[in-house]
Amino acid sequence: MKIIDGKKIAESLRADIAKEVKGFTRPPGLAVILVGHDPASEVYVRNKTKACVEVGFYSDQLHKSANITQEELISEINRLNDHKTIDGILVQLPLPKHIDENAVIDAILPEKDVDGFSSENIGKLMQNKPFIRPCTPKGVITMLGSINYNLKGKHCVIVGASNIVGRPMAMELLNLDATVTICNSSTKDIKQKAKSADVIIAAAGVPHLVNADWVKEGAVIIDVGINRLDNGKLAGDVDFESVKSKVSAISPVPGGVGPMTIAILLENTVTAYKARI
Ligand code: NAD
Repeated sequence: MKIIDGKKIAESLRADIAKEVKGFTRPPGLAVILVGHDPASEVYVRNKTKACVEVGFYSDQLHKSANITQEELISEINRLNDHKTIDGILVQLPLPKHIDENAVIDAILPEKDVDGFSSENIGKLMQNKPFIRPCTPKGVITMLGSINYNLKGKHCVIVGASNIVGRPMAMELLNLDATVTICNSSTKDIKQKAKSADVIIAAAGVPHLVNADWVKEGAVIIDVGINRLDNGKLAGDVDFESVKSKVSAISPVPGGVGPMTIAILLENTVTAYKARI
């Protein structure tokens, strides 16, 4: 059984990016906008900023009050859209309830939308003409590539259908000629569906949901879930101990998809920089 070590793959990606950036005429610039005081979001933004600085990017962190209006937030985005040395704009989600997240995301110029969540970038992925691709699903594809896994003709079951993970994940896999089943909380006979999978991508946000009963012998599992348990520990959506003797390869939590998401954000910022230079 192979462990797909996302931490190691991410470190190597970051080292390659840092090396490449040294040859650029100016550092790529990433602006991260945080609205309000959600503690988890504050940690994510801090980690993203730190990762930017480590690879030699220019990083601008904008912390806005939870009372900011949608118009004010969009006008801030417009300012960054026009900014010459800002290549990427990221708005940390979730936003306060009075703000329409889709309207805010679509205010970001597609060529600066380094999260890849805008209608234009999602549409391009859907049409198999990808430009900037959502970080977590792209990270999963990089992880499968690291074990030279050929997705062509393979049956992939995705557990979870969110806009940021499950849905773009399905398009990524389809674009590589896999056969894809997308499950959500209303899916019937989900275990049987998962049991027919060559690859399971677990992204439901339910700790230890996927156990040995869900998995066929030799399957590959990527665990996207990051769940904080009552004891303070992090758990994935997969019961690692239960499935480990059945799978041919699996990504752990922590140290799996999490570090990849940030590394791909840096990669996307380089893509955005190159598109503008
Ligand atoms: P979400 O809550 O937006 O969506 C969850 C999806 O899973 C929904 O489609 C829902 O219908 C489905 N679902 C919920 N319970 C289910 C069940 N019992 N069976 C089948 N489907 C079920 O969540 P999200 O934002 O996509 O995040 C999912 C998980 O991935 C969370 O644990 C989150 O923390 C994690 N995550 C990790 C990264 C990373 O970088 N590793 C990035 C994003 C999200």
